[in-house]
Amino acid sequence: MPRQFFVGGNWKMNPVSREEKQALVKTLNGADLDPATEVVVAPPALYLLPLKDSLKNDIKVAAQNCYEKPKGAFTGEISAPQLADAGIPYVILGHSERRKEFKESDELVAAKTKAALESKLKVILCVGEDKDQREAGETAAVVNRQLQAVVNVLNPGDWSHIVIAYEPVWAIGTGKVATPEQAQEAHADIRKFLSDKVSLDVAEKTRIIYGGSVTAANCSDLAALLDVDGFLVGGASLTPQFITIINAKR
Ligand code: PEP
Repeated sequence: MPRQFFVGGNWKMNPVSREEKQALVKTLNGADLDPATEVVVAPPALYLLPLKDSLKNDIKVAAQNCYEKPKGAFTGEISAPQLADAGIPYVILGHSERRKEFKESDELVAAKTKAALESKLKVILCVGEDKDQREAGETAAVVNRQLQAVVNVLNPGDWSHIVIAYEPVWAIGTGKVATPEQAQEAHADIRKFLSDKVSLDVAEKTRIIYGGSVTAANCSDLAALLDVDGFLVGGASLTPQFITIINAKR
């Protein structure tokens, strides 16, 4: 069975006003979107519920993070059971900004992934190397290490609820998109890792999406690659270009 194309929009800590948020909703709701693509938008937590209610039915929402504990004295955090209770279907975990700015370790990302799946959330799991690691030829080793931490805590059946986002850190928000060759190689390596460490079935079925400076101009070439099953889009998801990216396969 072919893997369904998946496009996520990561709004990060944007926009700063409800008016701007409404304008983005209007653009999305008014757009002609490829029905074959699964579309998910990840706003700041404050906007999750209003967005869930105001977006048309074929666009889902995702949280940008969750905590690994279910409840208690963890000021400022949101738990997986809370997201699930609110009807939020997806959560992004392991984004490089969380790994770098908030010092999230591979083990913490794995624990959050396990907690999210236990609450029946689906996870967009981000992995990727930084510039120095790529230049040192360590891309596969870094990505495999990040994935191995998750493999260690999950059951093989859990992977049907995970979308892996390969996001080279040097490409995020920089305008330096990976070349099709770089993206295909990294995605194929991830699929091989899944085949070796989990199962061939999981490797064949898991969607591996690319993130890092995807735009309307470069999305078609990337979407055509054998092992690229969609995109996680930051900056361009706040612009009308996002519609072109959603429709990249059409
Ligand atoms: C991201 O933050 O996940 C991302 C891919 O950002 P950008 O598209 O802006 O590079």
